[in-house]
Amino acid sequence: MIEKLVRDRVKSLKPYVPGKSKEEIIRKYNLNPEDIIKLGSNENPWGCSKKIKEELLREIGNLHQYPEPVNPVLMEELGNFLDVPRENIIVGGDGADEIIDTLMRTFVDVGDEVIIPIPTFTQYRVSAHIHGANIRYGRYNKKKDFKLDVDSILDNITERTKIIFLCTPNNPTGNPIERKDIKKILESTEALVVVDHAYIEYSKDIYNVTKWALDYENLLILRTFSKIFGLAGARVGYGVANEEVINYMMRVKPVFSLTRLSQICTIAALRDREFFFYSREKGIESREILYRGLKKFKELKVYPSEANYLLVEIRNDMTSGEFCEELLKRGVIVRDCKSFEGLDGEYIRVSIGTFEEDRRFLEILKDIVS
Ligand SMILES: *Cc1c(COP(=O)(O)O)cnc(C)c1O
Repeated sequence: MIEKLVRDRVKSLKPYVPGKSKEEIIRKYNLNPEDIIKLGSNENPWGCSKKIKEELLREIGNLHQYPEPVNPVLMEELGNFLDVPRENIIVGGDGADEIIDTLMRTFVDVGDEVIIPIPTFTQYRVSAHIHGANIRYGRYNKKKDFKLDVDSILDNITERTKIIFLCTPNNPTGNPIERKDIKKILESTEALVVVDHAYIEYSKDIYNVTKWALDYENLLILRTFSKIFGLAGARVGYGVANEEVINYMMRVKPVFSLTRLSQICTIAALRDREFFFYSREKGIESREILYRGLKKFKELKVYPSEANYLLVEIRNDMTSGEFCEELLKRGVIVRDCKSFEGLDGEYIRVSIGTFEEDRRFLEILKDIVS
């Protein structure tokens, strides 16, 4: 009976399959919690700033009160961090995922088109689909280490194109998009170009094209506290764009989604620049350890990355599923890339760990590969 009521768009949607949790693996394989190495969800292995805890405890007494929809202290700290005016920033309370959803609800009518080059972050497709968009796929070119095929975007632009998603560094491939390519796309369309910088702090330039959002009317930069700041559990993401885009989105965004606790977490995180730079430096070092270690296996092809994870192609006779299963039995969680559209072949994605976790992971790999 209920089925008749449900929107067709929702019926055709497959439930989201998140990375495996520690708890799940401990139960299934009967392992000790200390033996689990979680390299599956691009989290920060060094946690978050230690200064957050005390600030959070202080805020608990205020939990009976609604949060401010826009927290001026947070906006000021974030504006300083990015060196952009606060009028150009929107902060969302379910991470960058909320910003993506708000974009859809602000700009996309049923039948409008959204361009997504693949393989990439699956949330763009899921959100676009739910909101009734027709999706046109571009591609990151496997033959060129997943470099963005700019023509695959330009050829798909039509009168109905509303949003184009560019992810740099791209998830799950790890490679950046060249600035000249972003520029070319921006200047070839009136559609909104979303540049997802979720991992930009792990690349050479932590701002990259963020400030272009002040010059281009049709650019929105997407960023998050989930990765470099280690706050995936607090669910805070943000967008940077021209004021008009921000103002329309603010009409649509869930008013109180940024809770008192997440506001406090982000303010404390932004004030602890020491942790930020520690996390960046260690993260890049961990990526280099893993890259060098993985490169030694002739059965594996590891792709260069500017993010906090590495894409690895499996070139022995195992499927990515079998490979992940062997790792799981030994307590290691990585991401099976089977569910990424446009990634044909056998791939896994490995997130950075602490140096000790990296070392143990590489040791365990020897066991499986040879
Ligand atoms: C992790 C991630 C995000 C941010 O997700 P949150 O909702 O902020 O946790 C955005 N884009 C990409 C490509 C990501 O991998």
